[in-house]
Amino acid sequence: MTQHLSEALQRIEASPTTAMTDRASELREQGRDIISLSVGEPDFPTPPHVIAAAKAALDAGDTRYTPVTGTARLKEAAALHFRRDLGIETDPARVIVSAGGKQAIFEALAATVSAGDEVIVPSPWWVSYPQMVRFCGGRVVPLRTGPAHGYRFRPGELESLITPQTNWLLLNSPGNPTGAVYPAEMLRGIGEVLRRHPQVLVLSDDIYAPLSYTGEPHATLAVECPDLADRIITVSGVSKSHAMTGFRIGVATGPDWLIAAMGRLQSNSSGNPASISQAAAVAAFEGPQDFLSDWREAFRRRRDLVVERVNAIPGLSTPAPDGAFYCLVDAAPLMQRFGGDDSKLALHLLDNGVATVAASAFGGRDGFRISFAADEAVLDEALTRIEEALS
Ligand code: PLP
Repeated sequence: MTQHLSEALQRIEASPTTAMTDRASELREQGRDIISLSVGEPDFPTPPHVIAAAKAALDAGDTRYTPVTGTARLKEAAALHFRRDLGIETDPARVIVSAGGKQAIFEALAATVSAGDEVIVPSPWWVSYPQMVRFCGGRVVPLRTGPAHGYRFRPGELESLITPQTNWLLLNSPGNPTGAVYPAEMLRGIGEVLRRHPQVLVLSDDIYAPLSYTGEPHATLAVECPDLADRIITVSGVSKSHAMTGFRIGVATGPDWLIAAMGRLQSNSSGNPASISQAAAVAAFEGPQDFLSDWREAFRRRRDLVVERVNAIPGLSTPAPDGAFYCLVDAAPLMQRFGGDDSKLALHLLDNGVATVAASAFGGRDGFRISFAADEAVLDEALTRIEEALS
């Protein structure tokens, strides 16, 4: 039968990070010894109080539809999270709960981006941002960043890309795949530019906020520039901070009109997020948070190990990522061996037993992303394999 793919779908492809993870699983099933450093999820178990809340919800018969944009209980817990962890003063009426941060981001863009709109996306970017923009008919305007400035853009670079058609800036701090963190004063500089361009909305993707190694409190645009808050949507969740990727719960807060628009879309597509997962997310936001400092410490040690080993391999280099659990490795001096194509480099590493993701999958170049959500012995072995593969 002829395939009838929509124009919108033809503009996007399946996520390259999941493609690499699937390829690694395939090889493993064939008996190959593959270390997978391609996945974007913490390797720690979901905290027991979260699991207990999910079980209790099942036993209590919480198995029905809930309000489409989330239970009142979870919206309250999410508002607490936004206040306590991000410093954003919000209330449950300006919160939406969705099936992962991913759905919230998709809805915000789908509700606002029309054909010809321009969306500024700092690159290297999280793989789904450009795909979502294209799906909506928008034009992706890359704002290129590099290792020399820790993969952060400067306000002037942003301003040079803004046109009357710009309707979004997508900000992600701590960032995937770079681990870049925007400190408060940089956000205030970005805010100065945005004040001159009132047509630009900002999506602040703070999903990795609890995983920052700078020792500074998390900084976010809605707090640094409160006068711009009515055009900022902040996305967060429990996937990364509470090792709950499979629960599929994300939360967002922003202006009433946008939250309502996203809800309109959600009510006609997925409907409410899973009831059991919502109960678990209440426990995640309201329960103890002290495990996080142990996780952060473990991630920081792994980061230090990866950065040190990478920088000792001839031809590879990386700045130390300030947050999240990714390290974007620059391999520019070695690229001639791979015909200038970093996906060939990533395949070569896979052949040598380590799954990573090529930088080009993130709109970057000449390198690969390592996820350091694995224990130190595994990371050490992976780095030995990478070293041997490139020697
Ligand atoms: N934003 C960023 C930058 C991410 O890396 C991810 C997941 O990889 C998400 C959002 C979405 O997370 P989830 O939909 O699992 O909550």
